[in-house]
Amino acid sequence: MVTEMVKIAVLAVQGAFAEHMDRLRKLGVESIELRRRADLEQDFDGLILPGGESTVQGKLLQDLQMLMPLRGKIAGGLPVFGTCAGLILLAEELCSDTRVYFGTMPVRVQRNAYGRQLGSFHTEENVMGLGRLPMTFIRAPYIESVKKGVEILAQVQNRIVAARYGNQIGTAFHPELDEDDRMHQMFIKMCEEYAGGGMPADV
Ligand code: GLN
Repeated sequence: MVTEMVKIAVLAVQGAFAEHMDRLRKLGVESIELRRRADLEQDFDGLILPGGESTVQGKLLQDLQMLMPLRGKIAGGLPVFGTCAGLILLAEELCSDTRVYFGTMPVRVQRNAYGRQLGSFHTEENVMGLGRLPMTFIRAPYIESVKKGVEILAQVQNRIVAARYGNQIGTAFHPELDEDDRMHQMFIKMCEEYAGGGMPADV
């Protein structure tokens, strides 16, 4: 059984949150912005962490006292979809960096992994269960290694660029910037299952 309507929260302290909200609107899903701690009191069935600058987002989450409450929700099984900087926020460990933000996803992530010259690029690759998808990378990270329980969803040039751990999905690319809706649809389905009392968290 799935619920008819889910509500998805989008972290809106910095970065490309508007693009995610536009995509959700297009798919007929209600979204709310999370800008301050009081916004967390609303009910929502999923959370999107947009691209942007992870250091800035992490600091704002701390300063606004949103980091720990959101971390608790993610650890409790709330479906979360982190794109680019959002993936960095979810990572349990960063390469050559002691910072950890939510740290709920047992992956090791390398930031700004493609160097300055290759700051942005576009390609197409297979995503497990979805087929070939367009992928836009902007000063993107990649997943250097994963621990037990993490499912690798996509690789580009032998580097992991999308993974899933329980109700957490992280992509190094920006599905909200390409026309293709399938990543968002996959996430909405997870949110519907969660709201309908399905799949327990694996965290
Ligand atoms: N380079 C950014 C960071 O380290 C991520 C870039 C992005 O989200 N497009 O946070």
